[in-house]
Amino acid sequence: MSVLQLDPLANENAETALAHARKGQPGPVLIVGAGIGGLAASLALARRGIASHVLERRPAFNEDGAGIQIGPNGTRILRQLGVVDALRPHVGVPEALSVRDGSTGNELARLPLGRWLAMRHGAPYWVAHRRDLHAALLQAVRTEPLVALSMGFDASEVATRDGLVAVAADSRQAWTGRALIAADGIWSPLRSLLFKEAKPTFCGKSASRSIVPLDTLPEEFHRPETTIWLFPDAHVVHYPVSGGTELAVVVVLDDGHESSDWSAPVPPAWIQQSMPECAEALQTLILGASTWRRWSLHTMPVPQRWAQGPIALLGDAAHPVLPFLAQGGVMALEDAAVLADALHRNPDQVPLALQQYQRRRRARVMRVAKASRRNGSIYHLQGLAAQARNLVLRKLPAQRLMARYDWLYGWRAD
Ligand SMILES: Cc1cc2nc3c(=O)[nH]c(=O)nc-3n(C[C@H](O)[C@H](O)[C@H](O)COP(=O)(O)OP(=O)(O)OC[C@H]3O[C@@H](n4cnc5c(N)ncnc54)[C@H](O)[C@@H]3O)c2cc1C
Repeated sequence: MSVLQLDPLANENAETALAHARKGQPGPVLIVGAGIGGLAASLALARRGIASHVLERRPAFNEDGAGIQIGPNGTRILRQLGVVDALRPHVGVPEALSVRDGSTGNELARLPLGRWLAMRHGAPYWVAHRRDLHAALLQAVRTEPLVALSMGFDASEVATRDGLVAVAADSRQAWTGRALIAADGIWSPLRSLLFKEAKPTFCGKSASRSIVPLDTLPEEFHRPETTIWLFPDAHVVHYPVSGGTELAVVVVLDDGHESSDWSAPVPPAWIQQSMPECAEALQTLILGASTWRRWSLHTMPVPQRWAQGPIALLGDAAHPVLPFLAQGGVMALEDAAVLADALHRNPDQVPLALQQYQRRRRARVMRVAKASRRNGSIYHLQGLAAQARNLVLRKLPAQRLMARYDWLYGWRAD
């Protein structure tokens, strides 16, 4: 394995960078964006012996206070990327998913996670602070000789010629490579530049997130489980993170306020007033959370096309999904695994590899996006429809309910 040699092109735009690129040197795979998707892609490529250069807009990382659930389809990939040992001390391993009626607090169903799900799919269900997942990926990237990482690079221009691609920033710094992967998130500037038809639209709901120290909360919140409280047009999810010292909470509400800010601060009083009347325990939790950040939920039809020549999108840039199945980040991990496999199989035919990557991902992502939307509708039912849902949840055997997600958690890259 050779150590990645970089060829910085200063004072260039994308076109002139291509003209100055060294002939016969294919260069690394350029990855724009060092979120979960971009970092995972660089590691997946490295595991296949492929060099990459990750270009991140932010000058430094400051991962937001939010939790992330990682189903077995995601933890299996994290294992392949070699980050589980670094991450394990920080994660929670929920034994069950407890579904509750938000107003009475009564448990409607208790679905098995923990050992049952891990045995079924050969990989565990984990919950983590996003900061810890990102830090584990970043640590692996920083010690990986086949990955370079440049910070403070705000990609704004792309050009391709003769099998090479160049990406430039307004700072007139440019890089060339043999492929460009845009993993630049839901508001992907590169998607709007290259695949103009795809645009996210606001779905009329927001997700407000908080991280609460567990030692400030009653015992019942310390249980190793994911809990979801259902209301008409709202739901709340929480689970312990940070090695069991904090609780990650998400409140999803109908909310007409649209913003592209992923982390807008919102006063606790707004959450308290917007919440439907709820069970006492949940009230305690909501009152105990002092810092909230709001994210307007956006959706986008899965595009027909997200690869073209030596360029492809990955993760939220390609296909943002609503968070009601807790799969957006995991889809980015799956993308990373398939992308690396496709480039490994076709090392000299990058455009073909990227077409194969898109083809192998599209049906899967469409199914996940549809299931996420459906989950959201079911969570937010009201009146008779909600009563019928609750009856089904109470009556159906819990393992049978969970087995309905075998298609999701049992997924493998090949
Ligand atoms: C409330 C909520 C809960 C969620 N819960 C879960 C969950 O439980 N499980 C799960 O799997 N997923 C969950 N998700 C989804 C998950 O957070 C996203 O799908 C995931 O973070 C997407 O990763 P990404 O790498 O594609 O994009 P991002 O994480 O958005 O990363 C994009 C990166 O690109 C950089 N960038 C942007 N523009 C440029 C540019 N021009 N040049 C260079 N760099 C640039 C950004 O700075 C950023 O670092 C949730 C989402 C929400 C909103």
